[in-house]
Amino acid sequence: MDDAYLATIRTFYPDARTTNDTVTRLLDLLSGRLQLEPRQVMSADSICSDDLNVIEYPRRAYEMLGPFKMGGLNGFPFAGLTGMGAFAHHVPEDGAVFVFYGPHIGITRAGTPGQVLRPGQTKASSCCGAAIAAVTKLLSGGLSEAPATELDYQQNTIEQVFWRGRDRIVGAPSPIVAATDVMYDAIETRVDLLASRTSYPCPYLILMGGILINTDGGGESCSSIRRLRCVTLSSGAQDDWLKALWA
Ligand SMILES: [Zn+2]
Repeated sequence: MDDAYLATIRTFYPDARTTNDTVTRLLDLLSGRLQLEPRQVMSADSICSDDLNVIEYPRRAYEMLGPFKMGGLNGFPFAGLTGMGAFAHHVPEDGAVFVFYGPHIGITRAGTPGQVLRPGQTKASSCCGAAIAAVTKLLSGGLSEAPATELDYQQNTIEQVFWRGRDRIVGAPSPIVAATDVMYDAIETRVDLLASRTSYPCPYLILMGGILINTDGGGESCSSIRRLRCVTLSSGAQDDWLKALWA
């Protein structure tokens, strides 16, 4: 990631770092604060199923066990209670469960949010495509309160999240940036609910939430981390690690 591109990304997300740097710092914290090696950590992510998120996946994250895939379109944790419960019970007994969650958004080198130049292509395209489609529908008056359909359940769910958050999206300087914030809040609320109803046969639960930012060419993603919390499961104590992430 060159400085000019990172500077462009930071005009939208001032605290953005490469996701590789973010994961490296996380692994340092797990080692320094909990004396945990990566192979003692079962990771899950609730991020969009977009292939670019696989191409731009931070390499060091593979040092942990997993990842279990919680997310569907735009990162909403569609795997639900059963997914959360299943992966939580795959954790090493002396280790930690780690969940990274958040929506994603492309930002082109030219500074267009909601777009990215995909590998082998010469024209930028929507990213997150599902979010762009739902926002476009919202702005054209095509959304209303409606039940999700079986054939397009995930997209319909995203549409309803944006419908409920329409006051924050319609009229925003960048509707897709605003919609990504709305989706972050919806994902975090749902992850917290799922996490509270799951039992963990290990000492620690780590929750990291943020905006995942895709970049042109499929090289490396960035992240703007909004929450990093360590829960000691025996006591329920919650430690805020966000400041320590970049200390
Ligand atoms: Zn997506």
